[in-house]
Amino acid sequence: MRLVDTHTHTFPFSPDAEASLEEHAAAAERLGLGGFILTDHCDMVPWQDVGCAPYWANFDRDRSFDILCKVRERHPRLYIGFGAELGEWYADVEPDEAVPPKCGADGRPLPPHAPVRSDAIASDPRLDFLLGSMHTVLREDFSRMTFTSEEQCAELLRLYAERLVSHCESSPMDALAHLTYPLRYMRRAGFRAELTRERDTVAEALRALVRRGKALEVNTSGLRQGHGETLPGKYWLELWRDLGGELVTLGSDAHYSRDLAADFAAAAELLRACGFRYAFYYRERRPVAVPFG
Ligand SMILES: [Zn+2]
Ligand SMILES: [Zn+2]
Repeated sequence: MRLVDTHTHTFPFSPDAEASLEEHAAAAERLGLGGFILTDHCDMVPWQDVGCAPYWANFDRDRSFDILCKVRERHPRLYIGFGAELGEWYADVEPDEAVPPKCGADGRPLPPHAPVRSDAIASDPRLDFLLGSMHTVLREDFSRMTFTSEEQCAELLRLYAERLVSHCESSPMDALAHLTYPLRYMRRAGFRAELTRERDTVAEALRALVRRGKALEVNTSGLRQGHGETLPGKYWLELWRDLGGELVTLGSDAHYSRDLAADFAAAAELLRACGFRYAFYYRERRPVAVPFG
């Protein structure tokens, strides 16, 4: 079973990562992986100031691809896919007009959203895999929110589920990344916060993915970050299977090489228990099956 880690980040293209692509490749060799896919952040959130610049401004895809080609040459045994984590695609189709634009560190409004950038990323012929993620509602990343009550969490989860439907119906992604992402931060803040209350809405989003032949990611970062389960966990994986979903990808969301393919054995076990027989990775935007051994 030569699994491929389909969700990894590198510095400087992902400002919150510390690993280089070469370090990921060396780790993949050590672990005996089939390879990994580079999915640096490409968030369509011009309102989100990360200190120096909005995330998308950090992304030089030509330079990233040049580095990847060199690392590929040095590691011919590995599959190293060129992907992207395209965040907040819904901003293209559903701008949140009711929320005023955020200002940068200099006090000036951050630039307006530029859909042409996400189109260019999605239609890049070099692309092997496009992850679609949702990190925000109301123009704020869940990782930066202050949670104050169960009621507030429930309302944010309602908005998240609602947004998820349009995201899953319209994003050009190949796989939906880390479903249940907000729960990680709400639980860390001490709230119970259940997305299961939004089951019908989330099911609508997942049905759209099935209809469009998209995959659902099992993100293992939840297991090593104290969340106690993968993102999403068993409940949603069983729903995915019941709705006819077959395509599942395994992603560690490694921002450090030590996290590459972290907890993949546990995730594979979980998927097998839920009735899945394969994990998939993508090459030239097409799913490739790896049977669980
Ligand atoms: Zn993400
Ligand atoms: Zn990520």
